[in-house]
Amino acid sequence: MSEKKRRIVLLPPELRNQIAAGEVVERPASALKELVENSLDAGAGRIDVTLENGGQSLIRVQDDGCGIAAEDLELAVTRHATSKIENFHDLERLNSYGFRGEALPSIASVSRFSIASAVSPADGQGAGYCLEVEHGRIAALRPSALHRGTVVEVRDLFANVPARLKFLKSPSTELRRAQEWLSRIALARLKAGFTLNSGGREALRFLPDQSLRDRLAQIWPALIMDALLPVDMERHGIRVRGFAAAPQVSQPRGDRILLYVNGRPVIDKGLLAAVREAYKGRLTSRDYPQAVLFVDLDPAGVDVNVHPAKSEVRFRDSAAVFSAALGALRNALIAGSAVPDAPAEDKSAHAPRGFWGEIDNPRLLPRRESAGHTAAFAYCQPGQTAHSSLAEAASAYGETAAQPRSAEESAASVSDRPRRPIAREEDGRTPRPPHEPPLPGRFAYLGQVAETYLALRDDSGALILVDQHAAHERVLFEAAQKDAFSGKSRPLALPLELRLHPSEKARFYELDKHLRSLGFELACADASLLVLATPPLLSRAHAGQFLREALAGRKDDLAEMLASMSCKGAVKAGQRLTDDEAAGLLAQWLAVAEREYCPHGRPCMLRWDAAALEKLFKRRQ
Ligand code: ADP
Ligand code: MG
Repeated sequence: MSEKKRRIVLLPPELRNQIAAGEVVERPASALKELVENSLDAGAGRIDVTLENGGQSLIRVQDDGCGIAAEDLELAVTRHATSKIENFHDLERLNSYGFRGEALPSIASVSRFSIASAVSPADGQGAGYCLEVEHGRIAALRPSALHRGTVVEVRDLFANVPARLKFLKSPSTELRRAQEWLSRIALARLKAGFTLNSGGREALRFLPDQSLRDRLAQIWPALIMDALLPVDMERHGIRVRGFAAAPQVSQPRGDRILLYVNGRPVIDKGLLAAVREAYKGRLTSRDYPQAVLFVDLDPAGVDVNVHPAKSEVRFRDSAAVFSAALGALRNALIAGSAVPDAPAEDKSAHAPRGFWGEIDNPRLLPRRESAGHTAAFAYCQPGQTAHSSLAEAASAYGETAAQPRSAEESAASVSDRPRRPIAREEDGRTPRPPHEPPLPGRFAYLGQVAETYLALRDDSGALILVDQHAAHERVLFEAAQKDAFSGKSRPLALPLELRLHPSEKARFYELDKHLRSLGFELACADASLLVLATPPLLSRAHAGQFLREALAGRKDDLAEMLASMSCKGAVKAGQRLTDDEAAGLLAQWLAVAEREYCPHGRPCMLRWDAAALEKLFKRRQ
């Protein structure tokens, strides 16, 4: 810096625009975003984009919108000149993407820029004009052959800003970003048609008036499309609609969740958090769901004037938006909790009478204290018979009829019916070979694989593998949730004594309340803790282990404690199960609502239907 104090000077307009460009145009895709938004604001029904060299050599956007009158062209590239707002209040009823009047001047200051435009010939004007700008300086205004709409061309972006140029990625990466971005906006504006050409090749084409699903199908693989669940709910004037994929088609990046606020693509931590919360327990912390969500609300409730790129917003009532989004997604996920399922029309054809004969078969009752597996099925509470859990399982699948009304009827029905219901051809069901224990719903148990997975078949012929540990964990977790606060606990004939470190003792006083609500009865004396009673689902040894971990500070909230208790109590991987035990576990698992994921978010099951198996065997593409 020179010693002499410098004078304060007003910067020349090109320099002001170049500085602003730093925030508005980061890369070709962001310039493209601004240009396409302008076309949409101009009411375009068709937008054609051409890129060369990933947009670095050329970005060309042509539209059939309202155009710009010749005398306004110069204003269009002047900073803070806009046709979209007149006063500050207009920001509260904004229905355009633009409002800052700085995109065109910014882009024109860091490129060789031209804008040709013509207002509709009905005005009698017709003749188009083209304005050329070289790195922010107006170079020429001349007539143009264009007679409708607007064409903007941006050449050699950042050629005069070497620092920016350095940060650009390879042309193919920049092209991919531009493509992603154009697809994003196309999802919000279904009426308009879009094309993207690059290197003489058509890279994208969205026809006008497509449905959201059709557009998604062009950019998302079939695997995701098949798993999409519709989302649509309104709460307190906030509507949340779109699609969310079932958790099994998760993906690794948060920024792939497409969020829109009043049609504007946004990045929003609060909405992202709502999405994650909705999938909590269904996905691990490393996975994100695949979703596209449109949040629509009164424009007065959103401030879009947060950042020049306009991709962040501030909500007046962010808690209301969070809960609307969470509610909408939860609804969609619950409504779509579709696995494992059979086609809906199957339900009536399915004859429950036959299988109730099986339900009464004591061989299928979950064993509570089978040798070696004491903990595994301890979930069956005193007074809760396996029969009732099976009945729940069946009703969870919409099987309503057929529960025997009295003991006599039940006894009669058992002897009257064939022990194994063999479906007749006209049932449309596959006859069940005699070696498969049937299960509630439409499932048959085939056997244990690798001493860890339980193989099932459903009526549609799909193969299902259930992770025995994950499934049992889920069962115990649901039970533990019900038991927590219910005061249920199991007294220990001989209290268990744990020696406490002073730090553990402090922690004990913090956790005491939680632990009691789980069903523990504890007494703290000097340096030891006496366990007088445990939650019903924990064996004595597991209760000790659980407390050790809880007191070491490894579990912070009740949900984590419940998850850990369920994990401790659950049957392990690598543990052999008899057919009866497996069937009993499966019956319990089929009865829980959230059966697809374990409390830690790992999948409990994998399912391959006939089509998936054909693909795996390369019978078809
Ligand atoms: P903003 O969009 O914030 O108003 P811009 O710098 O992006 O600012 O554009 C300036 C003005 O130029 C817009 O307000 C609009 O009147 C006009 N304009 C830009 N692009 C187009 C277009 N494709 N069709 C019609 N008018 C346009
Ligand atoms: Mg604009």
